[in-house]
Amino acid sequence: MPSMDPAPVIRLPDPCLVVLVGAAGAGKSTFAGRHFAPGEVLSSDAYRELIAGNATDQRATAAAFAALHRELRRRLADRRLTVVDATSVQSAARSALLRDATAAGVPAVAIVLDLPPDVVLARNAERPGARAVPEEAVRRQLEHLRRGLEGDGLGREGFAAVVRLRDPAAVAAARVERVRVRAPGA
Ligand code: ATP
Ligand code: MG
Repeated sequence: MPSMDPAPVIRLPDPCLVVLVGAAGAGKSTFAGRHFAPGEVLSSDAYRELIAGNATDQRATAAAFAALHRELRRRLADRRLTVVDATSVQSAARSALLRDATAAGVPAVAIVLDLPPDVVLARNAERPGARAVPEEAVRRQLEHLRRGLEGDGLGREGFAAVVRLRDPAAVAAARVERVRVRAPGA
C-alpha cells in the first residue's frame, strides 16, 4: 500500500493571531467556520456588511478594515485567539495585521489556502450572483499570492509559522490544535 501523509495538524499557540491567506473562493470562510468559534473570527466581509449593508461593497473597504483592526487590537490585548478572514494576499495587508500582533506581544500564524487556480476560479464562478468576484480580480489575487510565496516570501514577514495547504485534500484533512501559552509574568 502506498504510504499516506498523515493528516496535517496545525498547532496554534493560544493566544495567537491567525491570518487566513487566499484568493476569493479559496475557502477561507469555510475553513474558519469549521475550525473556530464564530466569535473568534473577524471577517472583512462581515465588517463591510455592517458598515455598508453589503459584504461586497468595496467602497466600505477602508472603514471595514479600520473597524477590523480596532477590534483585533482589543482582542489581542485581552489575549484572545483571533482569526482574520480576509484575502490578505498582499504583503502590505499582512504587515498591518502583523503589527497589531507584535504590539500585543502575541504570535501570528499564517494559514495559506494555496489551492490550484482552476479550483479557486471554478468555486468563485459557481457562487450565486452578487457573491462571485469578477474573474480578473481573482486572477490578480492569485498572482499576488504566487509572488508572495516565491522563495521563502511569507516566512520572512514575521509569522511564527506559515502553514501552506496546497490542495483540497490537505484542506479537508487539516486539524487544528491549540497549545495554551501563559501570559508573560502570569
Ligand atoms: P471570499 O474571500 O470571497 O470571502 P472565501 O475564501 O471565504 O472567499 P468561501 O466562501 O469559504 O471562500 O468558499 C468559496 C466557495 O467554495 C463556496 O461556494 C464554498 O461552499 C466552496 N468551498 C469552500 N471550501 C470548500 C471545500 N473544501 N470543498 C468544496 N467546496 C468548498
Ligand atoms: Mg469569505
